[in-house]
Amino acid sequence: MNTETPLWITHPACTLHEMGPSHPESIARLHAIQDRMIASGLLPMFRPLTAPLAPREALVRVHDERLVDALLAAKPTEGYIRVDPDTALNAHSSEAAQAAAGAVMLAVDEVLAGRAHFAFCAVRPPGHHAERRRAMGFCLFDSIAVGAAHALACGLARVAILDFDVHYGNGTSNIFRDDPRVMVCNTYQDPFYPGWVSDPDRPHIVDAPLKRGDGSAEFRAAVTSRWLPALEAFEPQLILVSAGFDAHAADPLAGLQLGYADYAWIGDQIRGWGERWSQGRVVASLEGGYDLHALARSVEEFVRASAF
Ligand SMILES: [Zn+2]
Repeated sequence: MNTETPLWITHPACTLHEMGPSHPESIARLHAIQDRMIASGLLPMFRPLTAPLAPREALVRVHDERLVDALLAAKPTEGYIRVDPDTALNAHSSEAAQAAAGAVMLAVDEVLAGRAHFAFCAVRPPGHHAERRRAMGFCLFDSIAVGAAHALACGLARVAILDFDVHYGNGTSNIFRDDPRVMVCNTYQDPFYPGWVSDPDRPHIVDAPLKRGDGSAEFRAAVTSRWLPALEAFEPQLILVSAGFDAHAADPLAGLQLGYADYAWIGDQIRGWGERWSQGRVVASLEGGYDLHALARSVEEFVRASAF
């Protein structure tokens, strides 16, 4: 097996979960990414895998049992079950959320076994707003957190989660606030949704806020001045990425001004950090990004830089 071949992991349920006809977190997002990856010639360079469904025992490592059981049981035969004003489940949503978390677990297994160095999980719903006790913000289970907890259960001692989605990853930092084995680094627009951040007294939670209107220079400076020194001290054995692309200037939901070159840059940085500390092991999972064209091109730039 060629470990240089990166992985592309998805599941059919991820294109069946939807939350209403005008919802920005739409099925069309995954189709746009897939189309762009085919048109660019990149997709055939990945080894495709179908995600397994994350088992209940993996979900309850990071979520309250009552939340897990409620979401696993929420399978409306018609219409939606709403969990917050922005977030709902249809008949396929709980399977999609289980598959999204299962994708990250499979990716972790593959990179830890040395069968690949990079994996991209093309999944939805996203996960990083889902806290230990509540689903919210388009997210049901925190997939990247499930993957990190799985990596710890596999014996790793230090895992980094890097989150460059425009929204603060409140779920992930909530879940790992008392577990310094997981370093959680965020860049995000502030103030903005969800409106709260982590406890600043925890050195393993590394927050790098950006202001509305900030762009390439501010983003790169934040990563270099805030994330990098923390990662250098931590030396992660595995890098997980909450890869949201809604900080792009074209995104309709947010006010940062990143461009395609910034997604190539952060992908290149992360690949280098992986080579330096983590035996090249990097697993990225899709979070936000709501302008379909900008999302698809940003994913292309990010994976081209981080996977090869
Ligand atoms: Zn977002």
